[in-house]
Amino acid sequence: MIVGIDLGGMSAKAACLENGKLTKIVRVETSAQASYAETAHALAVLAVRAAQEAGVGRDGIDAVGIGSPGIIDSGTGNVVLWSNFGWEDVPLAQSIAEELQKPVFVTNDANAAALGEAKYGAGKNYRNSILITLGTGVGGGIVIEGNLFEGYKSAGTEIGHMIIRQDGEMCTCGRRGCFERYASASALIRMTERAMRAHPESRLKEFVKEDGTAGGKTAFLAAAAGDLAGQDVVAEYIANLGEGIANLVNILRPEAVLIGGGVSNEGENLLRPLRAYVYPRLYAPVRYAPFEILRATLGNDAGLYGAAEYARSRIL
Ligand SMILES: [Zn+2]
Repeated sequence: MIVGIDLGGMSAKAACLENGKLTKIVRVETSAQASYAETAHALAVLAVRAAQEAGVGRDGIDAVGIGSPGIIDSGTGNVVLWSNFGWEDVPLAQSIAEELQKPVFVTNDANAAALGEAKYGAGKNYRNSILITLGTGVGGGIVIEGNLFEGYKSAGTEIGHMIIRQDGEMCTCGRRGCFERYASASALIRMTERAMRAHPESRLKEFVKEDGTAGGKTAFLAAAAGDLAGQDVVAEYIANLGEGIANLVNILRPEAVLIGGGVSNEGENLLRPLRAYVYPRLYAPVRYAPFEILRATLGNDAGLYGAAEYARSRIL
């Protein structure tokens, strides 16, 4: 039995992967106030609970995989840096392995989601896929020939920080013009707010959230209602997203790009114009190397699937 753990700043979730499906998901609260040792112990206990829910105990666990925020050295299983929790080079895999007496592997949470979606979600029919998650930032991961690609010392695949505008908007990473400043859900909301100020006569204001501020859906709803300002925001957002995707596809040429996160709920309203933008910009045409842009299907569970799959791939 393989246990997957999805570690987050507010909670950690765990479940076992059995016959390609997750068993019952168990949760525990996490907190930046807790010490590293307390959190590591809580994760070990959580892994055993997940195994018990799957009908085995600690002895039935073959391996544990963890998707963790931050910079991860997946070779050692150390969390090199997770600033939210003040973790610097903590031996997460080793701590839990010593407590459980089982092999434990750690990868970055975005990478785990990409592996999960590639193997059990929208990418399961492809051996080469890229997951792009559109949320507060732009997260993602790359699966090549069925294996997660992490880069040297698993420090790669930070696709949200690919520059798409030299000297563009300032990013939290300290550089300007990053993909996530233009293609995240937060970027879409900023663009919508800007358009509302520039075009107070537009219908954008009819589609704001209850609190009167723009949401990720506002521009898409206004565009669908025929509003020109809304259509402009959507077209600009799709061009931003499409530019980054075309770069990634021209370098790696996967068979599919899988789009996750809140904005992906727009479904074909997002994907249809996105394909129309990306396909003509690919160096090798789609008729030569078939390529798809699809909506991710596992939602918040992608990280759990991927964490477990990561451990499975490491003990094979
Ligand atoms: Zn950046």
